[in-house]
Amino acid sequence: MAKEGHKYLFVLGGVMSGVGKGVVTSSIGLLLQQRGYTVNLVKIDPYLNVDAGTMNPTEHGETFVLRSGLETDQDMGNYERFLGRDLTNEDYMTSGMVYQSVINRERALEYGGKCIEAIPHVRDEILRRIEAAASYNDSKISVIEIGGTIGDFQNALFIEAARVLKMNHPEDVLFAIVSYLPTPGTLGEMKTKPTQTAVRDLNSYGVQPDFIVARSKETIDEKRKEKLAIWCNVQKESIIAAPDISSIYEAPLNFEKDGFGDAILSAFRLPEKRAVSLAAWKKFAAAVADIKAPEVKIAIVGKYFDTGDFVLSDAYLSVIEAIKFSAAKLGRRASITWVNSKHFEKKGARPAALLAGFQGILVPGGFGESGIEGKIKAIQFARENKIPYFGLCYGMQLMVIEYARNVLGLKDATTTEIKKHAAHPVVDVMLEQKEKLSQNKYGGTMRLGAYPAYLKKGTLARAAYKKELVEERHRHRYEINGAYVKQLEDAGLVFSGTSPDGVLMEIAELPRAKHPFMLGTQFHPELKARPLDPHPLFTEFLRAASTHKRRRS
Ligand code: GLN
Repeated sequence: MAKEGHKYLFVLGGVMSGVGKGVVTSSIGLLLQQRGYTVNLVKIDPYLNVDAGTMNPTEHGETFVLRSGLETDQDMGNYERFLGRDLTNEDYMTSGMVYQSVINRERALEYGGKCIEAIPHVRDEILRRIEAAASYNDSKISVIEIGGTIGDFQNALFIEAARVLKMNHPEDVLFAIVSYLPTPGTLGEMKTKPTQTAVRDLNSYGVQPDFIVARSKETIDEKRKEKLAIWCNVQKESIIAAPDISSIYEAPLNFEKDGFGDAILSAFRLPEKRAVSLAAWKKFAAAVADIKAPEVKIAIVGKYFDTGDFVLSDAYLSVIEAIKFSAAKLGRRASITWVNSKHFEKKGARPAALLAGFQGILVPGGFGESGIEGKIKAIQFARENKIPYFGLCYGMQLMVIEYARNVLGLKDATTTEIKKHAAHPVVDVMLEQKEKLSQNKYGGTMRLGAYPAYLKKGTLARAAYKKELVEERHRHRYEINGAYVKQLEDAGLVFSGTSPDGVLMEIAELPRAKHPFMLGTQFHPELKARPLDPHPLFTEFLRAASTHKRRRS
């Protein structure tokens, strides 16, 4: 049963993929929230994976972990960042999830002996999930992004479900198509025809768009808006300009200028409950885009780094955004360089040659053996040369291994992730993970989602957070081996954050007297960094980096 009076806006893509449906969806969310409405943003991924946890980040982008622990698509990260609040499991669905529910129900004889078909059974499961998201979140408006492009086989059932929702609730459902208008170099003129064709394709599903978001290099002009309006059967005021921008955070500001927020409310016949105030957002967007701000040079050291900047910025999206937010808060401009850890593994490699020019070194999360020794060398270099260091998950585990090897003197300290029967398993598989791994249960089985941690007095972590109890999101199978904690502490390493029972080490750091900033977290703080509320650990890392004087390599 649909929630009475709830409003749904579906966002679809036309012409080609990669035109920024996620940013459009996030921006609409922000603009409606600004008008006093509770909004939930829903991502539909048409692939058959049950969640995004089993996909390679260099192929699909990062896995964004929700507070609940669900492993989702990176768009969910943008949604949370734009809305400034947590989303829930109901806000995410894949074809895999939908089919799994239907098949489980069939196996349990819950369909009473019927033949199970795409229509109505799969479609109705999609509708059930869309409505569950609306009810669970207690929101007034759901903005739902259907992944892929109009004309794909994979997303057709989702569009069909949306059509049926509109048929049953004609007043409550709207459609926006995000389409691309190319300007071929040979013509030098923006063309509307591909968008006309995409809209006609959408019409063949029985769906008429209410809005066209015109993605293009330059702002679409009035003449072309008129042309699209007549050919696509859409009001001219409902064609929204979306020119290329230097930062995604400018998108909602541009949409506001073009009247998108007001147009959506009036199409839903909803009043504006609150005057829009985008001043804080505007200030933030300007700070992020300020190319004149003093630079702070950060190296991110990892594997996969031969894949190219474009791929990497997707694979580590939340880390990059978290750095940007904190830099903007400090009035700095972070310049990020990807450093392939495999370089440090070559014979005679000198970390100084690659790293001395940076003011901060960060090792992000990761899995497996490749590039590990190189990362450890980079961490050693950061520790010995007092360059601010921030380790995220694997980056924390490796920081502890480096300390065990080079300060404690346990030369073969390592993680059982790369050596099962290690002499000094300083990082070891978590007890509850052993069984799962032995049964090849990889999907959704890590230690996932939010857990609390207590912070010790007098530590960097405590000073950064300014509180004793924090909650952070996790995604790992290994942990610091409790058997080594005492030795490590005696050798000067501080475990400044632990699980409430004191068993799991959540943050490791060096005292400020020994190092300006050397800290690693077992969790992923980047997942909770928000534009207007940057993460305190990233901010302190960047503050330390900003004051670090670079040396010549
Ligand atoms: N591979 C490590 C583990 O599973 C770290 C995971 C991560 O960095 N997200 O514990």
